[in-house]
Formats: sequence, C-alpha cells, structure tokens
Amino acid sequence: MGNEIQQERSVDELQMLMDNIELLLANRLTVYEKEKLFYCKIEDGNIGALPAGVFVLPLGVLIKLWESGDFLAKCPDCGNTVYIISAVGSMGSGSNQYKAFCPKCSKKVIGRKKNMILLWKPSLDLYVEYCEDKQQRESLSLSEVIEYLKNA
Ligand SMILES: [Zn+2]
Repeated sequence: MGNEIQQERSVDELQMLMDNIELLLANRLTVYEKEKLFYCKIEDGNIGALPAGVFVLPLGVLIKLWESGDFLAKCPDCGNTVYIISAVGSMGSGSNQYKAFCPKCSKKVIGRKKNMILLWKPSLDLYVEYCEDKQQRESLSLSEVIEYLKNA
C-alpha cells in the first residue's frame, strides 16, 4: 500500500516535470536563489553507486545538471533532449543506467551513458557544494514550486 502511494506520487512528479520543464528552466535563477525552491525533493532525484551509496539530488541541483548538460541525453524515439533525474551504476566497471523524461514524447526514458563517471562526477561535485552539510532545510513540494513560479 505504502509503495503504491509512493509510486503514484513519483509518476505524478514526472508528469509535473514534463509539463513544466520550460517554466523551471526559464526560472532557474529564482530556484537557485531561494532555498525553499532549491531544496525541493523529487521522489526519484538521486544518484547511487556502489560502494559510495545513494545521494539525494534536490530540484536545484537537477536544474544545474540540466543547465550544464551533464544530465541531458537524446531521446531514442524522437531525438529531442531528455532530462535525467536519477542514475545508478558502478564506479568500477563504469556501467550505469539513468532514468529520464522526454517532454516531447511525454514519457519516461531509460538509458545509459558511456561511463558512470560522466553522471557521478558532476552530481557529486554539486552534492558536496550544496547538500553535504546534512542540514534539514525547509522546502516546498514540486507542485508548490511550480505554483510559486507561475505566480512570481
Ligand atoms: Zn522523445
């Protein structure tokens, strides 16, 4: 039961991200400026590798990774940009798998990069810069962030 609810929530969040990707990118500086927007938690926003573990990547970090191009890839179906939100892999072998969304196709896309380090290095650099202190920060939910930006 709990799992079903969680899954439902992440599907909704994925849809919300797909529907509002342009709004989020256009307002990225506002997100970077305001902690309550920056630290918005996305259900699937994380990166994991053995043996290091799993690191949560909040909305602000994801947008930074989209802006730098590190968390972008190409949709296998339409050729347009897909936005990566989570990844798992191995630093030893470099194998990896990411989960992304394609706003054009309006669907989830699973894919892989040439090497895990391409996803790991930029995410961990940002994680260390913004998230490592483990301080609990008050943040809005994704739907609240979107509302906020629409009314800003
Ligand atoms: Zn597509």
